[in-house]
Amino acid sequence: MNGATTSGELRAHNRVRLLRAVHDCGATRTRSQLTRDLRLARGTASVLVAGLAEDELLHEEPAREHVRGRPTQVPGPHPYGPVALAVDVREDAWELAECELGGRVTVLEVRPHDGTPEGALRPLGEALAAHRDRLGRRVVGTGVALAGPVRHGGLVDIAHLDWHGVDVPALLAAGDRDEAGPPAGTPVVGNDTAFAAVAEARRGRLRDVRVGLHLHVDFDLGGVLMVDGRPVAGAGGVGAEFGHMPLTESRRPCACGALGCWGADVGANALLRHAGLAHGGGRGREQAEHVLATDAAAVEATSRMLGRGIAALVNAHDPEVVTLSGHGPELFERAGAALLAAGEPYLMAIRRERPPRIEGSALGWRGALLGAMESVFDAFLTVEGLELWRNNHPDQARDTPDRQSVTHSTPDGDRPL
Ligand SMILES: [Zn+2]
Repeated sequence: MNGATTSGELRAHNRVRLLRAVHDCGATRTRSQLTRDLRLARGTASVLVAGLAEDELLHEEPAREHVRGRPTQVPGPHPYGPVALAVDVREDAWELAECELGGRVTVLEVRPHDGTPEGALRPLGEALAAHRDRLGRRVVGTGVALAGPVRHGGLVDIAHLDWHGVDVPALLAAGDRDEAGPPAGTPVVGNDTAFAAVAEARRGRLRDVRVGLHLHVDFDLGGVLMVDGRPVAGAGGVGAEFGHMPLTESRRPCACGALGCWGADVGANALLRHAGLAHGGGRGREQAEHVLATDAAAVEATSRMLGRGIAALVNAHDPEVVTLSGHGPELFERAGAALLAAGEPYLMAIRRERPPRIEGSALGWRGALLGAMESVFDAFLTVEGLELWRNNHPDQARDTPDRQSVTHSTPDGDRPL
């Protein structure tokens, strides 16, 4: 029980477990299912749910389909409950979303930027401050995904945009000039591929997979090895830069400083190059999408390079499954045979017998954003996080018209608090 010895500690521990279960299932399981999943006594679950509803952490809705004569409640996010702000900063634009417990995402803003640290992050800092003002104490944290390795909790390098050691939290704070608003807290800054892989492990095709390889294809390619649902991050948090390994015999210099990086051969930049179009600097997304949709030769060439690199990584890591996000699923869909054929000669004989399956992400382009959200809820869904929420919400007994709709229902057999 994680050292929970007193009844108070046990209750705090069970509050976290119940909220975590509601979040992880996407607020789809009924109270009785959750009670069984968590091996709780029915009365205990009832008391827990009532307490969490009182704290504006949970709200129950009747299940859409319920057994006749017996109303079934589904615990989900409270209308005044915690929200995570999540951002996916891509090379040419950022997307900012509000995420509820259970993982429902509402995109608030999508804004193009000029590819410079100032041009991307200052306006983002302003937007985050405005949404914190609007949402007040409901905001429990901010997660920011970026397309490059992240060191020391927030120093980001995006070589092909010429970002070197950019202090992301400092630039976001510089954009937040509203000192009267609620405190920003330190954002969780992470690599987009690692976030996408975490989201895939929680809500997608890497769920319950012990060893999986996730590859995210955007302008170039990022990869990460997932073991037991966690990215293998390296000693300094910047491991798994598979896109910067020489896996394809290319001799092309990469903006990262190394020679012959795999990532330069897979992604929007490679598609543009094959089509004879200008590329680099995080520009040309629309043209690349056009090439992807219309230029079979460029798609095949890029898919072959993807297949060769995957074979090398499969030899090294023996994953159960290789998942693809970003442009990856479309490359696989449009030129899967070329991808597999190009990879096969590079597989060890023992791997050829039973190669891992290759699958498109279940989350599409949303993975990085969802992973950024998970990083916030991972910090919040702790005994300390919930305690802080309680301390920050002394006004929970407030009476507002909306509150009438918040029912603390009790299925038969359970007694209200
Ligand atoms: Zn490189």
